[in-house]
Amino acid sequence: MRIPVLAANWKMFKTVGETVSYLKEFCALTAGVSGAEMVVAPPFTAIRAASEAARGSNVGIAAQDCYWEQEGAFTGEISVRMLKDAGACYVIVGHSERRRLFGDTDERVNRKLGAVLAAGLTPIVCIGETLEERDAGRTLAVLDRQVEAGLAGLTPAQVASLVIAYEPVWAIGTGRNATPAQAGEAHAHIRGKLAATFGAEAAAACRILYGGSVKPENIKDLMAIEDVDGALVGGASLTVSSFFAIVSGAQLV
Ligand code: PEP
Repeated sequence: MRIPVLAANWKMFKTVGETVSYLKEFCALTAGVSGAEMVVAPPFTAIRAASEAARGSNVGIAAQDCYWEQEGAFTGEISVRMLKDAGACYVIVGHSERRRLFGDTDERVNRKLGAVLAAGLTPIVCIGETLEERDAGRTLAVLDRQVEAGLAGLTPAQVASLVIAYEPVWAIGTGRNATPAQAGEAHAHIRGKLAATFGAEAAAACRILYGGSVKPENIKDLMAIEDVDGALVGGASLTVSSFFAIVSGAQLV
């Protein structure tokens, strides 16, 4: 059975103080939640404080990105070893904003993924098509390419431990989410591609989240789709009440 994951991507929002007060409230509210993994990804500067605020709770802390080298002359970069030391258990890799604004290619995603897995942390790997790619009928081919190149060299056991987030780029931060049919088609396709490449067992174990304008109002319908194992939530995760409503909505299915 795949345990659902509800993950909050805060992007470049929240100071240390704001992170701690959010997590204290959120951890108290979710103390009784079982059967789901809850994850919060604050900015790098708040990871240590977040992991301390969430200690003893069932909320895990994620980083929003990483660099693949352990250490060295890489000004501005942060290694997985440093993230682990600060208390992160998950690392988001290949978010479309990193791909679009900061030059992450499938090859860079693959190197980051390798570093996260080698450190024993759980990667949340983002894939998804742009609007142009969808309009050109290339959605499934783009997903295939991102899985092939992004996950190249991984073992079936590593794939089984992965979290993949299917995030159609046109749905991120736009208020426009994929229809259940669009999400269902993409998720089933990704799982089929994983099965063909890494075997049925790895594909059946890998959690595939949906991301893109997830809100309390649409989480229940999204979670009802076969092959949707949770959500990666941006804007609607920034307030405790809204993210808690999403966690609650996901639990109802
Ligand atoms: C995201 O940042 O991964 C995301 C899905 O954002 P939003 O929920 O705001 O669309």
